[in-house]
Amino acid sequence: MSFGKMMDMPLTISSLIEHAARYHGKTEVISVETDGTVTRTGWAEVESNSRKLAAALKRLGCEMGDRCATIAWNNRRHLEIYFGVAGAGMVCHTINPRLFPEQLIYIMNHAADRVLFFDKTFVSAIAQLRPHLETIQHFVYMGAPDPEVAAAIDGVLFYDDLVNAEPDDATWPELDERMPSSLCYTSGTTGNPKGVEYSHRSTVLHTLGANMADGIALSARDTVLPVVPMFHANAWGVPYAAAAVGASMVLPGAHLDGDSLADLIDGQKVTMALGVPTIWLGLLNALKKRGSKAESLQRTLIGGSAAPSFMIRDFNEIYGVELLHGWGMTETSPLGSINQLLAKHADLSQEEKLKLRANQGRPPFGVELRVVDDSGNVLPNDGKTPGNLQIRGHWVVDTYFKAEKSALTADGWFDTGDVAMLDEDGYVFITDRSKDIIKSGGEWISTVELEDIAISHPGVANAAAIAARHEKWDERPVVLAVKAEGANPTEADILDHFKGKIASWQVPDRVIFVDSLPIGGTGKVLKNKLRDEYGDVLIAEHA
Ligand code: AMP
Repeated sequence: MSFGKMMDMPLTISSLIEHAARYHGKTEVISVETDGTVTRTGWAEVESNSRKLAAALKRLGCEMGDRCATIAWNNRRHLEIYFGVAGAGMVCHTINPRLFPEQLIYIMNHAADRVLFFDKTFVSAIAQLRPHLETIQHFVYMGAPDPEVAAAIDGVLFYDDLVNAEPDDATWPELDERMPSSLCYTSGTTGNPKGVEYSHRSTVLHTLGANMADGIALSARDTVLPVVPMFHANAWGVPYAAAAVGASMVLPGAHLDGDSLADLIDGQKVTMALGVPTIWLGLLNALKKRGSKAESLQRTLIGGSAAPSFMIRDFNEIYGVELLHGWGMTETSPLGSINQLLAKHADLSQEEKLKLRANQGRPPFGVELRVVDDSGNVLPNDGKTPGNLQIRGHWVVDTYFKAEKSALTADGWFDTGDVAMLDEDGYVFITDRSKDIIKSGGEWISTVELEDIAISHPGVANAAAIAARHEKWDERPVVLAVKAEGANPTEADILDHFKGKIASWQVPDRVIFVDSLPIGGTGKVLKNKLRDEYGDVLIAEHA
């Protein structure tokens, strides 16, 4: 008997952009450039430029699998590099420009990057790093020829020249879908950062998973604003997801303050925006001050850190915006879960629905979650037993770049380093990073929960909870809080606000007001810095 056969076409990143060009060629890609100008192109032009870039890289002598790095904001050329480098069979290595110079040098040398693309903002930083970069052969400035840049970086190539020199009929090479396509290093706060190398296949499957109706569900009717940087887990996959459905894109460039974002949302009629909570704190403040209603905005996706519940409510009740709370990590491409309600929740009150939407949601098809104890025993999905969160699926890391062995458990799961509870429907409640959780007299206190309560006080603009060392209880919670503009709450006011909301032994020992919280390159609060500074305050007090 002979079986029938279906076509077997490789799941490649170039096929995503080809689709966008073929069926959504005139759909706009709007880009805020480094000098503040706004350019408007369409998917057809992005595809043609990225195809020419692929040809140019080959002409420069780059080979399949070579890493081409970017140090750049979210802009049109960066988008073309995403598709052009991967589509050429090379690896698009996005780098967080806010890392320390030593980390940047380590990452580029470890990745053995051959090409470095960069924006104007980073010219002088790169000129300084250059003597330490061992493998980079081509420095490519992301713009038209510029004498200042040519003077700062000897032998620099200009992106626009490279692309313009290639013929319009350049073609995409045929690739195996299991080839690597992009590389992103984790923002490891301890030890050296580790590289996660995605494949064409994992990226396309992630794109399909992310775009499902209960996912970020981009469509051809959306104008999507990824505020999440393109160096943070592939901008959460938005460039690929937007190309797959022909959504219009707005790339915000360097200025991510609330006012700039409000201008973009109103001016470009953005329907969907994605970013970390600190970004949305800025936007909400700006909207309030300007009296803007962000009328075009229908949905925002928040992830990267826990979304405070007041934010879910404010977006919903003041602006009519549906806030989707998602969880993920660089190692998971990043989508691991996203919060949408089920049919059985339809008749709940608005209040109950908002409460349900505060957790990190459920895994889409393609990934699976479980919680285990410290010995690896699988814990029940009962919504109340916290454990180590593990994940497996089509777009989850197996082995870090250049690592000798797999990062997985013996039975094939990736341990996320997060502590969470899962319920019977698969909703995940992240309580902490395992290294951040507060262990008080053998009991665990969730910093995520403490922060959510502190931030819900009207006099608090932002807050972080840490474990402070304690003579009797080992660790006790201390909250560092930033006062809201014009407000002057006392420590007692904030401590009072915790009462009745959590068990009395979970109420922090201290609330300390600070001018600002230290924020890392991807917009998250650097708890290790806070622990270094405030970890001994309770000991010092009793000494
Ligand atoms: P990164 O790889 O830099 O994106 O960091 C991933 C980590 O961010 C996760 O392991 C979590 O600790 C944290 N994270 C991401 N999304 C959320 C969320 N919605 N709530 C709480 N923590 C989150």
